[in-house]
Amino acid sequence: MGEQGVDVLLLSVGPDLPWLIGYEAMPLERLTMLVVPADGDATLVVPRLEAPRVVPRAGVFSIRAFEETDDPIEVVAGLTGAAPTVAIGDRTWARFVVDLQHRLGSSTSWRRASSITSPLRAVKDDAEIEALRMAAAAADRVASQLQAGDVPLVGRTEAEISADLGRRLVDEGHARVNFAIVAAGENAASPHHEPGDRVVRAGDVVLCDFGGTMLTEGGAGYCSDITRCVFVGEPPAEVAEAYEVLHRAQRAAVEAATVGTPCERVDQAARDVIDEAGYGDRFIHRTGHGIGVEEHEDPYIVAGNADPLTHGHAFSIEPGIYTPGEWGLRLEDIVVASGSGPDQLNVADHSLVVLD
Ligand code: ZN
Ligand code: ZN
Ligand code: ZN
Repeated sequence: MGEQGVDVLLLSVGPDLPWLIGYEAMPLERLTMLVVPADGDATLVVPRLEAPRVVPRAGVFSIRAFEETDDPIEVVAGLTGAAPTVAIGDRTWARFVVDLQHRLGSSTSWRRASSITSPLRAVKDDAEIEALRMAAAAADRVASQLQAGDVPLVGRTEAEISADLGRRLVDEGHARVNFAIVAAGENAASPHHEPGDRVVRAGDVVLCDFGGTMLTEGGAGYCSDITRCVFVGEPPAEVAEAYEVLHRAQRAAVEAATVGTPCERVDQAARDVIDEAGYGDRFIHRTGHGIGVEEHEDPYIVAGNADPLTHGHAFSIEPGIYTPGEWGLRLEDIVVASGSGPDQLNVADHSLVVLD
């Protein structure tokens, strides 16, 4: 905050608050806001009825519970004082931002809190890496069940399979399911396909991309995110060939993800393999995204991001090849950059497993 000339940081709903103090604000019309002055003590402003859920942490922040008839905007404004520069959480509801801006007046300049929190959140400490490893291992167990044929596919809809994968994520220890994309056959060409009533049949590729949040001691949860494709029956040569290219591309990007390598060069490593095989125009998204308390966060593995990977950066490597109207393929693991090389958290079978 000092480096960036920010006097007060204000955090409400969204992942910054649980990441910092282990408490997740209720997404309510009643304001919850942590006020963090650059040179002073932090205060959590919270509705009286939510206060019992807050685990007090003496020396970290104090609690200021307000009554139903109090104006929390006044409370926050009082704690903020005449700070010239305020950074506010990116997910804060406009109703509170607008009221605070009005109350603090035109002499206050505003920043996004992510300018401070994102670079900090992007670099994971050992406990965070272990939390991501546990979440990845749980997602791997579900992927292995899928690949072993334990998740019935033929005759079921994408939506039914999606619900099944979600239940398995919870059974394996996740507190919540964030998404479970199941895309069959031609639907797999849409990277963020919404699972629907398409029934899986022989001759389909089934692309499954799922993840959830696993809670840790202290309240903040860490995310998993994995993609595996299976094929019902023997895949046609063109699909098998494209998968072989995809597999090599994913491998190349994982191997490129060493400390000091610019993010965009990791993206290029996957893209080079896919371009060379002639599928370049069918790889229609970036190679990956950071992951932590949020499914998508810094660093982004994308052209134009010249930031070098540092020890503790955690991110996905997920190239894809998509043929509209026919099929799509994607292969995704979570990787942590470390001094001893890329630490691949997902180890479930990387091949295009054939099921019947
Ligand atoms: Zn995605
Ligand atoms: Zn994914
Ligand atoms: Zn992902």
